[in-house]
Amino acid sequence: MISQKEKKFEGIYNDLVELIGARKVSNKIVDLLSYSHDYWPITLFWLLEGKVPSLPDVVVFPEKTEDVVKVVRYAYENDVPLYPYGGGTGVLGGAVPEYGGIVIDLKKMRKIQIFEEDLIVEVEAGVNGMLLETHLNKKGFTLGHFPQSLYSSTVGGWISTKAIGQFSTKYGGIENMLIGLEVVVPPGEILHFKPNPRAAVGPDLKGLFIEAEGMLGIITRAYLRIWPYPEKRILMSFISDTLADALEAVKNILRRGAKPAVIRIYDKVETRKWFHMIKRAKGKVGTIIILEGDSILVEAEKHIVEEEFKDAIPTGEEPAKYWLEKRFDVKELPEFLPLGIVIDTIEVSVPWSKAVDLYNDVINAMRNVEGTLIAFAHASHFYPQGVCFYFIFGGIPPKEKSPLDYYREIWNATMRATLRNGGSISHHHGIGRMRAMWIAEDLGKSIFTFLKKIKSAVDEKNIMNRGNMGV
Ligand SMILES: Cc1cc2nc3c(=O)[nH]c(=O)nc-3n(C[C@H](O)[C@H](O)[C@H](O)COP(=O)(O)OP(=O)(O)OC[C@H]3O[C@@H](n4cnc5c(N)ncnc54)[C@H](O)[C@@H]3O)c2cc1C
Repeated sequence: MISQKEKKFEGIYNDLVELIGARKVSNKIVDLLSYSHDYWPITLFWLLEGKVPSLPDVVVFPEKTEDVVKVVRYAYENDVPLYPYGGGTGVLGGAVPEYGGIVIDLKKMRKIQIFEEDLIVEVEAGVNGMLLETHLNKKGFTLGHFPQSLYSSTVGGWISTKAIGQFSTKYGGIENMLIGLEVVVPPGEILHFKPNPRAAVGPDLKGLFIEAEGMLGIITRAYLRIWPYPEKRILMSFISDTLADALEAVKNILRRGAKPAVIRIYDKVETRKWFHMIKRAKGKVGTIIILEGDSILVEAEKHIVEEEFKDAIPTGEEPAKYWLEKRFDVKELPEFLPLGIVIDTIEVSVPWSKAVDLYNDVINAMRNVEGTLIAFAHASHFYPQGVCFYFIFGGIPPKEKSPLDYYREIWNATMRATLRNGGSISHHHGIGRMRAMWIAEDLGKSIFTFLKKIKSAVDEKNIMNRGNMGV
């Protein structure tokens, strides 16, 4: 677990001012404090207790790739840790400047260029998600990437955490959108992977930077696939008797090749929230489906969905409308933490054959941790091969336990249950500093060793996001 390290880097502020200009460098305490954490609940606990998670020495705000090159070169030559920072919405401490040094915030790099005929958008890494989508919509396109953090996360952060959006069943995760990349690696070199629909020119090295969480280089630019803005949208919902019934229906929809943009299956507890307007949904499992795209295709998909949900009760558009309205509301964490209530979310993935067992095991594991008041889940992302479960827990730690003890215990119980049921410990939030202790077990020893070899080959001085992912 990380703690404040005292190491300071003398003269770093003046050096960086000289290199890239005073406007782009800050050592104001308010900035250092703002960049001492991301959205990891542990750092929020610390802040609430008046403890500073981990102060950087300076924060830099590059405006172009050349600025990034200069900063990386400086960090390399002077052995200073460097932490890329996008929106700071990462939930696992991936952007926490554990060893001090330089935080490099990419948000001033925000140019966007659309190549309409090629259906490609070129974006600088600091572009905010909502601004990108709005810009595309005005020109008649969509990226189709809607993480719940859309309003505050960046393109560089999405790639670095392998993010996925709510419309993923149709548009895929960020890895399916990424077809070109620019990244600055130590000791200060630019790698430019040009965009092409597909290329077979050696191993896919740009893939190394997807979910690398800033430990190999700094992403400065991306080329993403875009789509014409959908012509038609259809909202549907159903209630089923059991989670297994709803999962089975969705599995069959995907097997038939239909790709609803949004599918969300809520367990019996969470159905109460999203289907509150449907009285007969009590005690049932609610599913929301949103189809969008070309009207002929969407009508055909609607037909398939109705056939596969024939044993469920259709409940109309209301639940899906309500979800569309509320899907970006995120106030629980800042509201509940100060009251001493510990809450968090944990997402994992699993093949269909093990899905129900994993769900039951994780929910039981969470409920068995002393202090847990509530544990529930929805299935949020789907593939012909399996599913992502998004677990949510809330609890009040018993007297003898600190909130942190309780938090660690419930995370450990969830990770253990996931691993013993053949799941992957993360579907889209990544590893960061929170999941670092389970990464080797999930990947296996030889892959983890291989990852470490890549890290030390690319970043021999270990300046890039030192301490992250446990690598
Ligand atoms: C309320 C809420 C809802 C969320 N919903 C979703 C969701 O629906 N789907 C989802 O996938 N995630 C979700 N997340 C998690 C988070 O938003 C994503 O991980 C997002 O991709 C992080 O982007 P960011 O710009 O905020 O990155 P940051 O938090 O700033 O950084 C994340 C990691 O990427 C590295 N990094 C950032 N920029 C760069 C760069 N340019 N080059 C190299 N490394 C970089 C950082 O060092 C860090 O390790 C949610 C988070 C919150 C708080």
